[in-house]
Amino acid sequence: PSAPRPVPGACFSRVRPAPLRQPRLVALSGPALALLGLGAPPAAREAEAEAEAEAALFFSGNALLPGAEPAAHCYCGHQFGQFAGQLGDGAAMYLGEVCTAAGERWELQLKGAGPTPFSRQADGRKVLRSSIREFLCSEAMFHLGIPTTRAGACVTSESTVVRDVFYDGNPKYEQCTVVLRIASTFIRFGSFEIFKSTDEHTGRAGPSVGRNDIRVQLLDYVISSFYPEIQAAHAGDRVQRNAAFFREVTRRTARMVAEWQCVGFCHGVLNTDNMSIVGLTLDYGPFGFLDRYDPDHVCNASDGAGRYAYSKQPEVCKWNLQKLAEALQPELPLELGEAVLAEEFDAEFRRHYLQKMRRKLGLVGEPQEEDAGLAAQLLETMHLTGADFTNTFYSLSSFPVEPESPDLEEFLAVLTAQCASLEELRLAFRPQMDPRQLSMMLMLAQSNPQLFALMGTRANITRELERVEQQARLEQLGPAELQSRNKEHWASWLQRYRARLDKDMEGVGDTAAWQAERVRVMRANNPKYVLRNYIAQNAIEAAEGGDFSEVRRVLKLLETPYDSEAAASAEPEGVGAAGRRRSYSSKPPLWAAELCVTSS
Ligand code: AMP
Ligand code: MG
Ligand code: MG
Repeated sequence: PSAPRPVPGACFSRVRPAPLRQPRLVALSGPALALLGLGAPPAAREAEAEAEAEAALFFSGNALLPGAEPAAHCYCGHQFGQFAGQLGDGAAMYLGEVCTAAGERWELQLKGAGPTPFSRQADGRKVLRSSIREFLCSEAMFHLGIPTTRAGACVTSESTVVRDVFYDGNPKYEQCTVVLRIASTFIRFGSFEIFKSTDEHTGRAGPSVGRNDIRVQLLDYVISSFYPEIQAAHAGDRVQRNAAFFREVTRRTARMVAEWQCVGFCHGVLNTDNMSIVGLTLDYGPFGFLDRYDPDHVCNASDGAGRYAYSKQPEVCKWNLQKLAEALQPELPLELGEAVLAEEFDAEFRRHYLQKMRRKLGLVGEPQEEDAGLAAQLLETMHLTGADFTNTFYSLSSFPVEPESPDLEEFLAVLTAQCASLEELRLAFRPQMDPRQLSMMLMLAQSNPQLFALMGTRANITRELERVEQQARLEQLGPAELQSRNKEHWASWLQRYRARLDKDMEGVGDTAAWQAERVRVMRANNPKYVLRNYIAQNAIEAAEGGDFSEVRRVLKLLETPYDSEAAASAEPEGVGAAGRRRSYSSKPPLWAAELCVTSS
């Protein structure tokens, strides 16, 4: 079963979902199901229970929707920089498409519905915690305004699988759970990589029968279905059509990753098989939102080398587009694809990023040369002070714009309260290796540098050395000193910010109206709520104990992530693992530093 299954002459296999024991609805997303023309579940108690049971039956895969033709898609991918050969839908099943009265077409998928010919040694299942994370984050991203696949339902069951083993050697059983995913399409960059002639990784020949035929068919299908304007504009010239298509994929991808950077989203597994051909955020595994701003933050505990660190996401997306360009040959000549990529990606990313940053900073007047620098210095200040990414941006809308405002001190206090305390910093930078182990690795690394670079150990060691150094610095520091240092950093940035705002203010007659507009724009671009790991964790722990109300409450909260009346009334009081009540707009509690996320 470990050998990839070649599928000559096709790029999918027919499959059947494997039934689950006692499927039970965790949550539904009303707005996502509305895309399919499905109404909200009835409000009456009994009718609601009945509707939930029906949803559990169909969205677990135990019953098939009328007209469903389940299939698993065969794709390849570059994983962590290496061509990994054939992968395919190992844990997801395509069900079919829903065409709506409005003329939209939605692909449905069940994720975790059992093995497919592409599951390799794995079981095709997903567990409750990873499913809740995918379900909640898909919807959270949509409501943040970021292109994403959607999630309509999350159904758990009494069937179990083992992902981890306890310290005592006993297996940890986890509940099999299924997520209903919805998107215009789930086709990825990797979908085009099945046409590579040889599997560079294993040296095995790729599926060869009708290889180029399928490439052409798939490309025609993708362009005519999802880029009809491009199909129409270039009907007579295939190469020009394909170049226009690749240009549009490049632009969408650049804008998507710019949005991620501006909201502090880290994807975690940016392999080419997780890159959507229509520019959607795809595959929520070990993702994370930045809490304390750290450009080197790595959200995936399995990514030792930090290939997919927050700050690397734009260049990684560009690298993935390069792989797509390579895979589109000869339909798109490589020189042409590369020229498009060089022309479009950086420019589109910068344009979109800067436009978003201006809104986040409330720079509503004429753009200025210095704006990019102002945003960069803000991030630098956050880094130096260990500031919370989401809350710092959110706080900016209460900056007193009047010079010499008596509220400035109070505002500085709000900002510095978002900075990490000594206790948090000591936890964040706690050394993770035994000191003896570290010195042994240092010796080995010196004697065989190439091997260590390959294994990603060099990055590990470098990071550990930084932690040790940080720890020593923190030892020297008292809380009062930290506080005054942070205040200095912030006062210095605010001075620059004020000078920049003065420029905007100069030209305006009605300062109050200008300020109101600024605040409106900032509130609409700086979320109060994102799906922080600790928030997801609270919902997961309650759900593992059989209580799904927290998942449902968090979903509701994330439907209005920006400040508004609706958001204020929806905010639940979260109960942390430590039992303390806190608001979900707070930075994470200390226990969140221990959270570890990998693919599951
Ligand atoms: P990912 O890292 O989630 O993008 O997954 C990489 C590959 O592993 C894809 O081909 C997935 O379909 C496959 N995969 C992930 N989880 C499972 C699972 N539980 N069972 C079978 N295949 C899986
Ligand atoms: Mg994937
Ligand atoms: Mg995945």
